[in-house]
Amino acid sequence: MAETAQAIEVRDLYKRFGPLEVLKGVSLTAKQGDVIALIGGSGSGKSTFLRCINMLELPTAGQVTIHGESIEMKSDGHGGLMPSNRKQIQRIRTKLGMVFQSFNLWQHMTVLQNVIEVPVHVLGQPRDKAIEVAEALLRRVGLYEKRDAYPSFLSGGQQQRAAIARALAIQPLVMLFDEPTSALDPELVGEVLSVIGDLAREKRTMILVTHEMKFARQVASHVVYLHGGVIEEQGPPEAIFENPQSERLKKFISSIH
Ligand code: ADP
Ligand code: MG
Repeated sequence: MAETAQAIEVRDLYKRFGPLEVLKGVSLTAKQGDVIALIGGSGSGKSTFLRCINMLELPTAGQVTIHGESIEMKSDGHGGLMPSNRKQIQRIRTKLGMVFQSFNLWQHMTVLQNVIEVPVHVLGQPRDKAIEVAEALLRRVGLYEKRDAYPSFLSGGQQQRAAIARALAIQPLVMLFDEPTSALDPELVGEVLSVIGDLAREKRTMILVTHEMKFARQVASHVVYLHGGVIEEQGPPEAIFENPQSERLKKFISSIH
């Protein structure tokens, strides 16, 4: 694998759900260390875009390349694509750490069990090694003392920090965040943004879907504004937030502030 490989390269991605065309040719490249903030109104296709990157949704057309490895797709015979190699999809998923709006922790497992599950049962890491890594990650996100608690006993902010530790435990090449603070009570947003901010400062490659514009302005290296399934405008955060060109983006930014 070339040293210069982009972390993520998405080319001309289309996704339709029946008659509804949600993504209409989206291309985006994330280099290592990039923090890409993906912004846009509700229904603009942000979640679908992230989900197509890790193949939780199959694109209708287009190409996704993760660290130089293109995901091989073939026609499904109905105008869509399907993976031609399921093992490859599984392997690529282990390079992507996904954090969802609704945390999605496994409720029947403790915090620690949540964090070691994939490393032990999917990646085949020795349990004691996985626990060591997990405990270090839980310390980082301020949850070490909650390692034996079940998710339902945690606040939303704690659950989301546990979900971030779980995503980090696979040592992903890229972190994908889908509105990680949107489900949180306002007083819990800061503790989660602080963890994500630390990751951004460490230059961890990430694509972050967020409505937290002030935060995006601070941490993003590049901002992409999606509208109606196409990239309407993109650029460095200063340009996007202080000098937006499109009328729609201007309206969007002022509606959120
Ligand atoms: P965003 O995250 O920007 O709010 P989404 O990607 O979730 O937008 O959704 C974009 C559009 O696609 C919406 O109109 C939504 O209803 C539709 N959509 C998303 N997922 C599905 C699905 N699985 N089946 C049908 N329509 C969907
Ligand atoms: Mg969404």
